[in-house]
Parts: sequence; structure tokens; C-alpha cells
Amino acid sequence: MNNDECVVSDTDSVLLLINKQNRLDESYVPRDLIVPNIPFSFRGYNDKKLVRYEVALALQELFAYANIDSVRLYAVSGYRSYNRQKTIFNRNVNKYGYEKANEFSARAGESEHQTGLAMDVSSRVVNMELVESFGDTKEGKWLVDNAYKAGFIIRYPKDKMDITGYQYEPWHIRYVGLKVAKIIADNDITLEEYIQGVI
Ligand SMILES: [Zn+2]
Repeated sequence: MNNDECVVSDTDSVLLLINKQNRLDESYVPRDLIVPNIPFSFRGYNDKKLVRYEVALALQELFAYANIDSVRLYAVSGYRSYNRQKTIFNRNVNKYGYEKANEFSARAGESEHQTGLAMDVSSRVVNMELVESFGDTKEGKWLVDNAYKAGFIIRYPKDKMDITGYQYEPWHIRYVGLKVAKIIADNDITLEEYIQGVI
């Protein structure tokens, strides 16, 4: 851990900011995790189907809105434990080196997936994979225009890496609640900027 990093304590808030400067404790597990009733890219139970209760309801709403517009989304990955993130990050470091891995993969404690407030989504046209080209698909574009209607934001937009610390991830949506999601979408800002009060 860097000296300028802090461990976040108000973990109940849906505005919880987790990034390379604000991390979750190793022991943090959200108390109200459940499996949302939405289509997933895989069958059977897995912890990565879990999100917090409020997020599950919002995801169900989002997927219902998508269906109305004939947009078929699939959930790929939600909650991820500290230890699972640690394993994933170490695997990426071995493969790509520390600096590169740190641009697209989170260190343990620094992943939004540990909050239960995030979900990775994809679509059939990109084989349910988490790839940048998802952003160019009908489904990816629909998400940019409509995610806020259920309280979600595209957490890592294009050209915001200097602020978020992460590369563009059109598939990673983060729940922040209806009011804040609309403000962030309307002003084309990031969660970091919203919390810093740039608008
Ligand atoms: Zn993600």
C-alpha cells in the first residue's frame, strides 16, 4: 500500500469511491449480496453473480428497459472477493508486468467489484467477452445513452484514464443511484469528478 492511499470506512454508501487511492479493507464483504434475476453469460451459481440488494433491483430495471428497446444484455461478472482479486492481479502481473497490469487490472482492495456495486455486461455480438469493441455495438451504445435511467454510470469512459486510473471499459457499469447517475451522464464527468465537486 502507498502512503497516500487510504482505507475507506463508509462502505454502506452507494457513492463509495474505490480506486488506486481509496481501497477497501481485506475483510470487507457487503452484507446484502444477492443474485439479480437477469440473464448471465454463463450457467450455474458463481459468486460473481452477486451484487448488493439495491443494485440487483436496479439491474433488473435496466435489463427490462433494454428489452423494451430490443437490446439483449448479459451480465458477466459482479461481486469479487479480496482474495479472488488478488489472484487475478497476480496472474496479470506475471503475464504483462506490474505497470501494464495496473492499468487494466485492480490490485486487491482497489477493485469496484469488491463493493458489490458494479457489474460487467456484454452481448452476443462480441461473444459475451469484455472487450473494447463492445463500446461500438448496439448494446454498448445503448448503455451509454440509457444506463443512468436505472442509476448506473459507465465507470471508466474513454479518455478519462488520467482521472479514473483505468483504461476505457465500456462493459463496466457502476451503480450510484438515480440522481447522481443523471448528473454524471448529463455533465459527461466521472465519479471522481462528481465527488470532488467539479460541477
Ligand atoms: Zn468490471
